[in-house]
Amino acid sequence: MKELVIASNNLNKLQEIIYFLNPLGINVSPQSVFNITEADEPYSTFIENALAKARHASKGTGLPALADDSGICVNILDDKPGIFSARYAGEPKSDERNNCKLVEMLRNELDRRAYYYCIMVLVRYAEDPRPIISEGVWHGEIILEPRGKGGFGYDPYFYLSEIGKTAAELSMECKNKISHRSQALIRLVDCIKNDRSNGVG
Ligand code: IMP
Repeated sequence: MKELVIASNNLNKLQEIIYFLNPLGINVSPQSVFNITEADEPYSTFIENALAKARHASKGTGLPALADDSGICVNILDDKPGIFSARYAGEPKSDERNNCKLVEMLRNELDRRAYYYCIMVLVRYAEDPRPIISEGVWHGEIILEPRGKGGFGYDPYFYLSEIGKTAAELSMECKNKISHRSQALIRLVDCIKNDRSNGVG
């Protein structure tokens, strides 16, 4: 595998993915380079949505494709926003409105434990019957006032008590070592290295 299309146009995610895959000598391009539009995400699980995105990008480009699906799950909200994280406060998607809604939902709750979840799915071709799949979970809690300017999405409200900072107060290097996405990517890189059928391992 020398080339890979990423089924996302989110710059933050792309940077993180490139950081992990470049050392494997894989040339990574976002699907926008090939004029691929975003796939529908009609399913109720992260894995099904990620698989749909990966197959869509691979079908449109004829290349291996990597998709991630991720979100934040709050224990007391039965794992919501979950797969609805990007559009929790409705259309058009807005981090600011999503965060406002989340804070309001949790304002009177004492238990604000939450976790970011990420799943990565790599298909070698669109109909690949054996996708490479990896996941990562990052535990924290939601605070009611934002802290920090880094990251994106829910990061200013995602507090890591063992570090004493929110995800938005971490450097990108630090976030890249511990986040849900980096955990999934580290595992994915291992799987790619161990998978002889892809020409890299
Ligand atoms: P996706 O693009 O469908 O995977 O939607 C992911 C959504 O989950 C994003 O729009 C964010 O709202 C949230 N999210 C996922 N990962 C992160 C993260 O690392 N920081 C902040 N928010 C995140």
